[in-house]
Amino acid sequence: MMKNNALAESIAVLDSILYIDGKFSKGKGSRLPVLNPATSEVIGHIAAATTDEIDAAVSAARHAFASWSKLVPKTRAIALHRLGDLIAADALNMAMIMTAEQGKPVNEAKGEILKLAEACHFYAEEATRVHGEIIPNDQQGFQSLVVREPIGVVAAITPWNYPAELVGWKLCASLAAGCSIVIKPAELTPFTALAIAQKCHAAGIPAGVVNVLTGKGSQVGQALVEHPQVDKIAFTGSSAVGLHIQQSCPQVKRLSLELGGNCPMIVTASADLDAAVKGAARRSFRNCGQICIAINRIYVHRAIYEEFVTQLAAAADALSVDNGLENPAADLGAMASAEPLDKTRTHLQDALVKGARLVAGGKAPEGIQYAKGHFFRPTVIADCKHSMQVMSEETFGPLVGVAPFDDLDEAISYANDTPYGLAAYCYAQNLTEIHRVSVGLDYGNVAINNVDAGIMNAAYGGRKQSGVGYEHGREELLEYFNFKHIRLHHGVEN
Ligand code: NAD
Repeated sequence: MMKNNALAESIAVLDSILYIDGKFSKGKGSRLPVLNPATSEVIGHIAAATTDEIDAAVSAARHAFASWSKLVPKTRAIALHRLGDLIAADALNMAMIMTAEQGKPVNEAKGEILKLAEACHFYAEEATRVHGEIIPNDQQGFQSLVVREPIGVVAAITPWNYPAELVGWKLCASLAAGCSIVIKPAELTPFTALAIAQKCHAAGIPAGVVNVLTGKGSQVGQALVEHPQVDKIAFTGSSAVGLHIQQSCPQVKRLSLELGGNCPMIVTASADLDAAVKGAARRSFRNCGQICIAINRIYVHRAIYEEFVTQLAAAADALSVDNGLENPAADLGAMASAEPLDKTRTHLQDALVKGARLVAGGKAPEGIQYAKGHFFRPTVIADCKHSMQVMSEETFGPLVGVAPFDDLDEAISYANDTPYGLAAYCYAQNLTEIHRVSVGLDYGNVAINNVDAGIMNAAYGGRKQSGVGYEHGREELLEYFNFKHIRLHHGVEN
């Protein structure tokens, strides 16, 4: 039984519902439990959307697209601003729903909800700034216009690590562009998406423009991928599922794939050591390292290596781990499920067997209150080799590997020696080093002397197996448009 009655009631309202064509109703399909990862308590259920319900949602979205896409952008912008205001006003409640299903501490979850509200306002404004181009022609009497038209029905398929933002970016950009959307959130974190749907409803977004279907990815997600009336798939998740979607899509349709990472950080001898340690601790362990842009591996110049390792271990040891509902200000909450925790333990064990040195963490926090949850202390391992899993695969947990380097080119080459290309970090104060690293890193996002690689108004996307397409910025909005070239022979000779 959940201790917080108001939260239990909020979740009870969302239990087993789908949002189709402007109506919330209990799903007809089989039920899957949703657990609080801090206690393993069942907090509610989702209904696996049936084929009829999937068809109904897509057909509602298709129908709504016809009128939503024809509205003047200002009207769509007003609706998005209203949505942002409603979300911000209820941020704490929405944050608690997220913490109950995902595990991150309430304060951190609230920050995510407020960033979703910011995305609503950003894309509301971008909606009114969509324009085309007039292209010079080689012949007199012709004019070419390139205009942008919304793609149509979008299926958004999202993971569990950022249950609000990763739904929200797709939702806001789709709506701003004039598309309609069917959202399939992760099985672990459905209630945040349904709570967002409640806000869309309250904001007066017309029936069918936004729909939410729950259920397993391999069934409901796959059905959306294969649905002939879905024009675009906006997917965030693992590289393996992203590739599967690309390969199994039976028609040509637009895809954006925001996938996994294995993100390096380089710390040169000229770095501000304190700032580098602070940045490393934040980006390795925030959200328990369950971030696609989490720092997995750190290459430190040998001259400052031991000092860096000592300080990073102390910074990790100083972080608090706790039940995120009971201690909203904890640094780390529970991990979202047993799966990322198992992978963290596997990567740790692999590194230790291959000779790494454990300098912080390495175990669950002690205490009966942690016994049933998926908790793990922030963990630092030193003297890592490139052959270790932590240095070459995505851990998606609170574990970071550190290795020394002597030559900057060697560090850049290790950093790039991965199938992934999402985000990379560097701390350095020497301008030549900064330039070499910025140019040399083969990544979609490079943060120098900071660890916040994504901001709302700059394009964010991965390279190689980290994906195709962009979120954030004007570039994300363009992902929801088709371009149309209208070549007009008006016959007027200048
Ligand atoms: P996942 O790939 O297992 O699942 C993501 C979503 O895909 C879920 O909703 C799932 O139900 C659905 N799905 C699963 N199989 C499907 C199928 N056959 N067809 C359609 N949908 C299907 O990923 P996850 O474990 O939920 O999330 C963690 C991964 O997400 C990590 O690899 C992480 O790096 C990545 N991620 C990337 C970004 C980014 O911006 N690049 C952001 C966050 C997370």
